[in-house]
Amino acid sequence: MNLNVVRGIKNLIKNRSSDLEFLYLDWFGGEPLLAFDVVRDLMKYSISLSEKYNFTVSSEMTTNGSLLTENKHKELNKLKVTRFQVSFDGDSLMHDTLRVIKHGSGSFDIIYNNLLNFHETSIDNKIIVRLHLNRNNLESVESFLERLHKDVGNDNRFNILVEQLQRLGGKNDSKIPVINGEKEIRSSYQRIIEKSKSLGFITLSPLNDKNYVCYASMFSSYVIRSRGEIEKCTVALYDDRNTIGFLSTDGKVQLDKKKLEYWVRGQFSRNPEQLACPLYSR
Ligand code: SF4
Repeated sequence: MNLNVVRGIKNLIKNRSSDLEFLYLDWFGGEPLLAFDVVRDLMKYSISLSEKYNFTVSSEMTTNGSLLTENKHKELNKLKVTRFQVSFDGDSLMHDTLRVIKHGSGSFDIIYNNLLNFHETSIDNKIIVRLHLNRNNLESVESFLERLHKDVGNDNRFNILVEQLQRLGGKNDSKIPVINGEKEIRSSYQRIIEKSKSLGFITLSPLNDKNYVCYASMFSSYVIRSRGEIEKCTVALYDDRNTIGFLSTDGKVQLDKKKLEYWVRGQFSRNPEQLACPLYSR
């Protein structure tokens, strides 16, 4: 993240501090742990302001998990980053065909061993294990759940989130084996949710929550990209509708109100589909 943007975020929080009750920071990439100095800097600054102005700070990180060592867990916990979303694409063989590291080898062992090391500690963090379903991996995901249950099943710091693999606009999109068809998608989710619950995991899924409201629908939630663009949705990263403004170094935000209206229209219509996903609803 550009240092001017870091300055802009600090000034934005400072400008809002006197009337803020709750500040929630969600770290999202790329890979946030590759910019650990930025995370540390902004969290320390936010915590110091929260103590001065008496508001609550809480934070979560979506990470590929490969750099999430015990030391990082400890430091992040002190910095109030206490929830981590770590995704898997199935058991080791399947995961490693989809999730390779720089030199082409698989990433499963690195990520999984970091989870096992965390399990051995008593650090008060939460791990949301996010399972990406695709049209070839349901058996593999079930076998992964059995492995996870055997290794950490009694540890309630681990929860499961079931999601489907999606095409989000990269150059390899056409190669991604997404599940096609509403019926097929529902039955795949159902199968994995049932398996996960039968093993005793707390299991979350957008399919289970009829009242879900996406953060993109909320007036109080904004994405700040590494170059200062302000967006609403964390999926439509290359969609011009999503760039609704810009953050300046002094912490001022310039928003395009017309563009903002599109994302928060569910607040006025009360249409549950628009609230749940303003991007894909009509
Ligand atoms: S608007 Fe839709 S696609 Fe974007 S983050 Fe929300 S639920 Fe996901």
